[in-house]
Amino acid sequence: MGQHYLRVFKSFQLEEVKKSLLIMGDLSGNCASCSALGINAYEAKTCPECGTVFKYIASRRLETHPTERFQLARRLAEKRPDLTLIDLLDYQKAAGDKAARDFFSASS
Ligand SMILES: [Zn+2]
Repeated sequence: MGQHYLRVFKSFQLEEVKKSLLIMGDLSGNCASCSALGINAYEAKTCPECGTVFKYIASRRLETHPTERFQLARRLAEKRPDLTLIDLLDYQKAAGDKAARDFFSASS
């Protein structure tokens, strides 16, 4: 049947992911920790601005190009075997929920 990419669910520490996440856009990537832009997502091991070592990667293209999703996942896995590919929407949802919780606990 050959190899295919299937998504799995695994639990992560959100702070840990945010500290070491590279978010890939259409042309280049940005650092989730300091929001630095223009990072080469296929090559950068660390953020040129804050020096964070990337461990995770999420790609906007997986959302905007759903029919190419598994080709993109394969290309990322081949180019960046050092990084764990996570789903960007899952991350954004979790980070948004956490930001909302922090906001309410700080203001109460
Ligand atoms: Zn950074």
